[in-house]
Amino acid sequence: MKALELVEYKKFEYKDIDAPSIGPKEVLIRVAACGICGSDVHGMDGSSGRRIPPIVMGHEAAGVISEVGEAVDSEWQVGDRVTFDSMVYCGDCWHCRRGEVNLCEDRMVLGVSCGDYRRYGAFAEYVAVPAHILYRLPDDLSFERAAMVEPVSVAVHAVERTPVTLGASAVVFGGGMIGLLCLQALKAAGCGFTAVVDLDSRKLETAKSLGTDLCIDPNDTDAPQAIREATSGRGADIAMEAVGIEPTVKGAIASLRKGGSCTLVGNLAPSVELPLQEVVTRQISLVGTCGSAGEYPACLDLIARGVIDVDCLISEVNTLDQGASSFDRLYKGEPGLTKIVLKPEQ
Ligand SMILES: [Zn+2]
Ligand SMILES: [Zn+2]
Repeated sequence: MKALELVEYKKFEYKDIDAPSIGPKEVLIRVAACGICGSDVHGMDGSSGRRIPPIVMGHEAAGVISEVGEAVDSEWQVGDRVTFDSMVYCGDCWHCRRGEVNLCEDRMVLGVSCGDYRRYGAFAEYVAVPAHILYRLPDDLSFERAAMVEPVSVAVHAVERTPVTLGASAVVFGGGMIGLLCLQALKAAGCGFTAVVDLDSRKLETAKSLGTDLCIDPNDTDAPQAIREATSGRGADIAMEAVGIEPTVKGAIASLRKGGSCTLVGNLAPSVELPLQEVVTRQISLVGTCGSAGEYPACLDLIARGVIDVDCLISEVNTLDQGASSFDRLYKGEPGLTKIVLKPEQ
C-alpha cells in the first residue's frame, strides 16, 4: 500500500510499504481522510521525542472497514463507515475501569513512536485498529468532517470538565483549532457572553464569524481589563486557556471574577509561573484536561448537526502524495493555515 512515512526527522517519503495485518480483535480500515495534527507537526523535527523515525503518523482519521478480525463483535462489518479514538486504551486498568480511558496506564497513540512503543498511523491507504475504539459515522457525515472529531472531542471534554452554567460568561485564550472548538462547545453548553483573545487577526475574524461577542488582540488591548468592562466590572465566570505559555495563563487567570474557573488545555510550555496569591485569595479553580473519554459519539452528532462547525477550520483537503509539502507549510507556519486533511487515492 501507499503510505506517507517520516523516514528521518523533517523528511517524508510517499512510498510503498506492507499493509498492516490485523489481530483477532482488530479491524483493517481503508483510510478515506486523515487530518494533520499539531502534535504531528511538532513531532516531525524530533523536538517532542514522540515521532522517532521511521513512522507513519496520523491519528485523526475516518474510513471504511475492509477486514474484520475473527474475534470482533458482529456489530462491525466490512463496508461500515467508521472513525476511531486516537488513543488505544487497554480497557482493563484501574482508570479504564472507572471510564477514565484518557488516563489509561497502557495507552498508545496511533501514529506515535516513542521510547516505549511504535504504532503505525493513518497517513496510509490502510490502518489496523482494535475494534473497541471504533465509532460508527452518521450517514450524512463526510469523511473529511469526521476526521475532525478528535480535536472536537478534546474541546468538548475540556468544556465538560468546566463548571458551565446557563448564561455563564466565558473567555477563550488562543484562537487556534482547539480554542475555536472550545468557543463553539462553550456556546453549545449554554454560555452567554463570550470573548476570544489572540494575536492573529485572521483567527479573530473566524471567531467573530462563529458568533463571539468580543475579539481581543492583546497587542493593542489589555485583555483582562476589557473582559472586566464587558462583565459589569467583575471578570468572566470561565476562562479556557488553549495556548499554554505564561502570558496567556496569567491573562486567563486575571480575566476571571472571584470564584471563577480556569480550564487549562494548552501546554506549549512545560512549566509556567503561577500567580499563587491571586489564585488563592480570589478562590480561583484551576482545572487540567487531557484528550477525551467517551465523547466521540456526542461530537460526531454535534458535527453532523452543524452545532459545531468544522468547515471553517479545514484550510485544505489534499491528496496523500502532497503530504510532505503540506507538512512543510504547516511546519513553517504559513499564515492562515489551520487544519490540512490528507486523502489517499481511492
Ligand atoms: Zn491530534
Ligand atoms: Zn487502561
